[in-house]
Amino acid sequence: MSRQERPPIPQPLPVPTVDAHTHLDACGATTPDLVRAALGRAASAGIVAVITVADDLDSARWVADAATWDERLYGAVALHPTRTEGFGETERSELERLAAADRVVAVGETGLDYYWDYASPKAQQEAFRWHIDLAKRVGKPLMIHNREAHDDVLATLDAEGAPETVMFHCFSGDADVARRCIDAGYLLSFAGTVTFRNARALQEAARLVPDEQLLVETDAPFLTPHPFRGRPNEPYCAAYTVEGLAELRGQSVEAVAEAARRNAERVFRLRVTENDGVGSSPESS
Ligand SMILES: [Zn+2]
Repeated sequence: MSRQERPPIPQPLPVPTVDAHTHLDACGATTPDLVRAALGRAASAGIVAVITVADDLDSARWVADAATWDERLYGAVALHPTRTEGFGETERSELERLAAADRVVAVGETGLDYYWDYASPKAQQEAFRWHIDLAKRVGKPLMIHNREAHDDVLATLDAEGAPETVMFHCFSGDADVARRCIDAGYLLSFAGTVTFRNARALQEAARLVPDEQLLVETDAPFLTPHPFRGRPNEPYCAAYTVEGLAELRGQSVEAVAEAARRNAERVFRLRVTENDGVGSSPESS
């Protein structure tokens, strides 16, 4: 089997859940038909709603538009920390406009990335502070990208005053960082990385998170969950991560799916269970 082939679509989860962070455009689903097809594959695995996230301005325009194409899709917009060199007035006013759109449910992904050096820490920090303020002004959750910058991300949130809802996408910290996020009331969103065999510290962190602060995501097209690591990721693969999380947290698959869905509905103000009630067949939706 080719490594480029998508993993099989798993059996539907016993209760529906939400992929809280993905990049449908980067998965190649750029047109209404392709978006609907990807959302159909997701629904058949029990992933009944998806938040697709922008990382630059073109992508932000696309996200705001695409989120109107299908009821199962919502958007988040921001300038990714690695794109913040030269972040000026034009970008700011356009992001302000896009972040206010109805189906855009979060400001993200923003934060700090000290792994890549496409943008200086200074440019990233300035943009991060601007996005924190934007989230407060539009009254929407802040979706954090944090790579090798745990201390500075947490310190910046403290210094600026965190928005009401903060979510750490693709949480990558250890138990200590997890505890600091949990104590601050932030949500921790786990991607396929938590299922990787060598992810001991991350798995320890995932065991600590209270049900009320847990989210699941794919961050597709990368970070495909075990045992499909290296193959293309898509929102339906969140079902594999739910299973992995259930096993390592000692919970039922149903409990993890339910908690992640409930939290996504609450913090992003989604309405995913009106048409896809718990217990209904995802295929019938
Ligand atoms: Zn992402």
